[in-house]
Amino acid sequence: MKLYKPEVEAQRFWNPYTQAMPRADLDRLHVRKLQTVIEYAYARSPMYRKLLDRHKVRPEQIRTMDDFIKRVPFIDKREILDAQAVRPPFGEALAISEDFFHQRFATSGSTGAPLHIPLTYHSAELWGESWVYVYWAAGLRARHSFYFPFNWGIFAAFWSAYMGVRRLGATVVSGGGLDSKARLRQIDQYRPDVMLATPTYALYLGETAREIGMDLAKTSVSHVIVAGEPGGSIPATRQAIEDLWGAKCYELYGIAELGPTNPGCPLQGGVHLCEEWYHALVVDESGHTVPYGEVGEHIVTSYIQDGQPLIKYRTHDLVRWTDQPCGCGTTWLYYPGGVLGRTDHMIIVKGVNVYPSALEALLHRVAGLSEHYELHVDRDAANDFVTVKAEARSEIAEARYGDLGREAEAIFKSVVGVGIDVAVQKPGSLPRYELKAKRFFDHRPAAHRWQLGGRADA
Ligand SMILES: [Zn+2]
Repeated sequence: MKLYKPEVEAQRFWNPYTQAMPRADLDRLHVRKLQTVIEYAYARSPMYRKLLDRHKVRPEQIRTMDDFIKRVPFIDKREILDAQAVRPPFGEALAISEDFFHQRFATSGSTGAPLHIPLTYHSAELWGESWVYVYWAAGLRARHSFYFPFNWGIFAAFWSAYMGVRRLGATVVSGGGLDSKARLRQIDQYRPDVMLATPTYALYLGETAREIGMDLAKTSVSHVIVAGEPGGSIPATRQAIEDLWGAKCYELYGIAELGPTNPGCPLQGGVHLCEEWYHALVVDESGHTVPYGEVGEHIVTSYIQDGQPLIKYRTHDLVRWTDQPCGCGTTWLYYPGGVLGRTDHMIIVKGVNVYPSALEALLHRVAGLSEHYELHVDRDAANDFVTVKAEARSEIAEARYGDLGREAEAIFKSVVGVGIDVAVQKPGSLPRYELKAKRFFDHRPAAHRWQLGGRADA
């Protein structure tokens, strides 16, 4: 017996009430939720009480969105790490007794100490539900089955994707504890509909499949859902994944500390802010909110983190936000192109802002280049400059590498408006990555990277 009803199955939105709510009503709802979460954090989290006291803000003073934007300070990872260090692992960032924990997570700590993330069952379920928005938008329902090619570690992302599948009522196939070849054999055997992966891993499996003579386009997988790094909203990368798997590719953009904040649009060109559970601002280097249509740092508030509340959290991700309809029918804020880069990966060449994801998208317009490339950024006396190393496709003769490089340089010049050197190399000459690719190499002095001065930080 099926647990869903056909009319529900055909419904366009997972939650028609908020996904189609007029902007003015959504904003009013946000003010109420923001007030609640600020009161909660001030009452229960010593870190937030100290932070707000230091900025001389009392929760009852936040009555409008303008109050929230102007008076509530940003918070950065460093401050949370400091608050956790008072009594590790959670210290003063904690807002609830550990008795209520459902699961503990942590970030990788690759750039310093790991940030600990406690989730109550309530939070874990709602993180999961945020994934359901992208599953539902992609046409996935309870009858489908999802393949998880992950080892089940301390990182939250795939666990929340798993909770989402539970919430949808669909089937899970775990590829934990297996290597890539064994996972491909498992896919052959269990015939899942959906593959969840980073874009890098979705493409990496293509190389593994070739080794064992398997054609991924002929597997049961009809949907690939990517997360963990940009790619799903970059047309050429998405196309490469779709061609490889013979499947549709959708994206979810999430943030380790905050969860799955932005499920992808069904039209695949970008992601929406999940305004059910999150509020966001996009700010410039001085901390001022940029108008819709412009790019800046993504600042997020969670409504669903009762263990460790995060309000106006600096994600260091660059996004373009817009209130213009994308065409899928939702009123939720839209971020065309998904994540455009990291704030510390922002490049300014002769006064022009250049985003790594934009360069990636342009690079893929050159038919003879593969998806493997690296961006190297350095700085002379006055300017950032960028050099791109890109691999040619295997069928391209070495004599044509020079032409391909000039073709890419001409595209950069005409679209971005700046000169960027492109060196074309042999297939297989750049390093391969399994989970996330390292493509951005910054050789600039630290002083020349993006810094958010931030009125509220000052
Ligand atoms: Zn949309």
